[in-house]
Amino acid sequence: MTTVAVAPRAARGPGAGKAHGSVAGRGHHARAVQSAIHLLRPGAILLDALGTLLALEPPAPRLRQVLADRFGLTLSSGQARDAIDAEIAYYRAHLGEGADAASLADLRARCAEVLRGALPASDAMTAVSPQALTGALLASLHFTAFPDAVPALAGARARGQRLVVLSNWDASLSGVLEAAGLAPLLDGIVCSAVAGARKPSPAIFEQALGVAGVAARHAIHVGDSIEEDVQGARGACIEPVLIRRDRSSGPPGVQTIATLAELR
Ligand SMILES: [Mg+2]
Repeated sequence: MTTVAVAPRAARGPGAGKAHGSVAGRGHHARAVQSAIHLLRPGAILLDALGTLLALEPPAPRLRQVLADRFGLTLSSGQARDAIDAEIAYYRAHLGEGADAASLADLRARCAEVLRGALPASDAMTAVSPQALTGALLASLHFTAFPDAVPALAGARARGQRLVVLSNWDASLSGVLEAAGLAPLLDGIVCSAVAGARKPSPAIFEQALGVAGVAARHAIHVGDSIEEDVQGARGACIEPVLIRRDRSSGPPGVQTIATLAELR
């Protein structure tokens, strides 16, 4: 089993009767893009997680606070930031190894030791147990739903669109989406660690289409990464929608939105 179904619903038709086609060449004006997405009315919307539905609260200040509160350790902002950067880099390279509870626990323990190795050495740091340091690391990583996520997902559900999250993440993704209040609005969650493929591989997009129960031409994929989301979706013949929350323009020919509220 490569996916985790959430709040399963009966499969519905993939947007029968809705116009579908390329919108390349419509230009980058936001209203034109919004209109294009409205006309598409895809049967399924695949969504990236981090940067699209979920925000990561700045972890370095949280790490400083947690290490101070739990172990009396004092770090500078730069020390905390460097350690978090090292941990995130290690995690991104190894997230595919966290495919179940046991392997995820092992991955997290290794991430915590990367964090330890990037922090200033001290007797107090050495005295922190691996379990306690893993707990501190997890307490520093807090994901929240962007304010537009729940309204957009609820609106799509009301329109009868299937919703599947598709993310390069470890097996904890469903729990993160649950904690953020998004899981009940989803038809499925596909994470790379469980799927055995990561974006931009077409294989993970095809798994998500299977969960959504629609063909590629009846789906769009929304994400914030050119390589993983836009190029990945195109590799699977899925229309990509780039989200740029800073309202910067996207590359030519790529539907670009600034908020999930533009999905209609
Ligand atoms: Mg992302």
